[in-house]
Amino acid sequence: MSVTIPYEADVLRAQDPELAEILAGELRRQSTSLQLIAAENFTSPAVLAALGSPLANKYAEGYPGARHHGGCELVDMAERLAVERAAALFGARHANVQAHSGSSAVLAAYAALLRPGDTVLALGLPYGGHLTHGSPANFSGRWFDFVAYGVDAETGLIDHDQVRHLARNHRPKAIVCGSIAYPRHIDYAFFREVADEVGAYLIADAAHPIGLVAGGAAPNPVPYADLVCATTHKVLRGPRGGMILCGSELAERVDRAVFPFTQGGAQMHTIAAKAVAFGEAATPAFAAYARQVVVNARALAARLAAEGFAVTTGGTDTHLITVDPAPLGTDGRTARGRLAAAGIVLDCCALPHGDGRGLRLGTAAVTTQGMGEAEMARIGALLAAVVRGRAEPAGARAEVRELTGAFPPYPG
Ligand SMILES: *Cc1c(COP(=O)(O)O)cnc(C)c1O
Repeated sequence: MSVTIPYEADVLRAQDPELAEILAGELRRQSTSLQLIAAENFTSPAVLAALGSPLANKYAEGYPGARHHGGCELVDMAERLAVERAAALFGARHANVQAHSGSSAVLAAYAALLRPGDTVLALGLPYGGHLTHGSPANFSGRWFDFVAYGVDAETGLIDHDQVRHLARNHRPKAIVCGSIAYPRHIDYAFFREVADEVGAYLIADAAHPIGLVAGGAAPNPVPYADLVCATTHKVLRGPRGGMILCGSELAERVDRAVFPFTQGGAQMHTIAAKAVAFGEAATPAFAAYARQVVVNARALAARLAAEGFAVTTGGTDTHLITVDPAPLGTDGRTARGRLAAAGIVLDCCALPHGDGRGLRLGTAAVTTQGMGEAEMARIGALLAAVVRGRAEPAGARAEVRELTGAFPPYPG
């Protein structure tokens, strides 16, 4: 496959060499270091082409067929295509594809269902809740009364007894399930049952696993949740952005919560790129990809455990792994620094026992590059050597370059 990435276009280099050099450098960085950030992926050249298209010029407040601006006939077609493809892909009656990000989708979901001061039950931030799940630094924590459930300190699994208990005691208006770091499948049927018992809405924030859902490699929250919020840029491999899936009853409330309540003009180039990504995600090739992402994550988790890392929940069902490097004699922050120096890029995260920082990694990007179980074993061994401080930095860097050179994200 030969690829011309839009931002490499000669026109940019000719007009603005300073910026062109930054973009070229970032492509080099992405291609020559190991991308293990669980929330990242490599979009296809087709998605990048839609993002760099003249749809970026178009103002389109409102929805297809009901815009505040003229000249929207063609962007209406693009948005209808994105909506139809998303609804079909996830088996939802309605999809709003205008949310600018995962956080914007959650903001709109709350706006659709809640009033300021309402009580919301969500996974606490120390256990992997997102900022929009009640952080005091975020609108959610300031405008709503969040009650946090957690995970079992031993097993790392969501404490279902506690969820039920807190729901009965606090009678929340909404329950949120979804996380930035939970490596296991979420039991949506359980959350639905608790929500029904206490008369709460169920909001699934499936920003991370939604790409696995698209490929049939993780359970679909759509049949259970009143609203499903998601991003389009994580395992799903689309452009940076958000979406909300729901039934017909809430469709109008959701649409009005996005525009005009929390957003202005839709970003039509991004919506077109979402349509491209939904089209890709509906193919058998993507289903195979999603399965391989999980196979790779399991292989990597097993290797990390064999190297001595304490793997949260003992493994993973998804693309995402969190580990405590303490048994290797260091903490998460130091480990991340050593790995970064070797060209291995990942995040720190909270740990279930609330003690120190762990490492969070994912296999979405390396799987897009074509890596498999053999490479996961190699990466796991390399990670352990670097974290232990036993790997020669130059040698580790060379191994990363060899691996990434054999699996370029944008060949050609
Ligand atoms: C990534 C994520 C978000 C936010 O997405 P942004 O596009 O960064 O705003 C929200 N919730 C969860 C659970 C996430 O994983």
